[in-house]
Amino acid sequence: MKPVKAKKYLGQHFLKDNNLAQEITNLLNKEHQNIVEIGPGMGILTKFLITKKINLKLIEIDLESITYLKSNFEMNEKNIIHGDFLKTDIKSYFNQKISIIGNFPYNISSQILFKVYENKDLIDEVVGMFQKEVAERISSTTGKKRGILSVLIQVFYKVEYCLTISENSFNPPPKVKSAVIKLTRNRRRKLDCNEKLFKQIIKSAYNQRRKTLRNALKSFNLKMNDEINHLLTLRAEKLSVEDFIKITKSVC
Ligand code: SAH
Repeated sequence: MKPVKAKKYLGQHFLKDNNLAQEITNLLNKEHQNIVEIGPGMGILTKFLITKKINLKLIEIDLESITYLKSNFEMNEKNIIHGDFLKTDIKSYFNQKISIIGNFPYNISSQILFKVYENKDLIDEVVGMFQKEVAERISSTTGKKRGILSVLIQVFYKVEYCLTISENSFNPPPKVKSAVIKLTRNRRRKLDCNEKLFKQIIKSAYNQRRKTLRNALKSFNLKMNDEINHLLTLRAEKLSVEDFIKITKSVC
């Protein structure tokens, strides 16, 4: 069967290195049974995943790739889902915890991570390829690289930077380097502060990241104590997830 013709608008950069593909799939926790692959394309990760004793579902938006997968892989067709991951109601497919894996299309990587955040009670683990810059941002726990999405993800996941990948490992090669990161759900079941407010605080802090928090968070009415007072002298980049929770709890 003819290879799939790479479509730029779908972020198709096919991995061509089998050793690397195997290494990536081996990053999944072996105990996990329910795996969802996002954007399998021609299935370079899939072929290592199907050798494992797992329930595997594929979600792929591109019909040409779907046809390719169906004719090359012996899988129950109902596990090859033709659709947009961002619009898929993953809760309707799974009643058990899942792991997600994928060489993600870069144009929707932030949206994928927001969806992970929204489905954090279902998604135990994510092994994903991102643009290197995004991978660094999500895995930074402090400092200038970190952003709103990094903090949100780190509230509920341990983030590990696993592999840097050269553009030459892909066909066609993307313009930038890539990296694989792994997210593992931590023990926090829910935030012990108002989640909506927490998001607003992080947004205000990061949208005005050059300002001290005292200025960036002016519009919030905070109940002061020594600790909060000290935190407000800093900029967003210096604060830990726990510090943001403390500030949220101090809103009157
Ligand atoms: N995993 C393959 C392909 C990676 S390219 C490999 O490593 O070679 C990214 C893949 O994501 C493409 O197959 C593309 O069609 C698919 N894709 C893009 N947007 C998607 C979406 N919204 N939902 C599901 N799949 C998507």
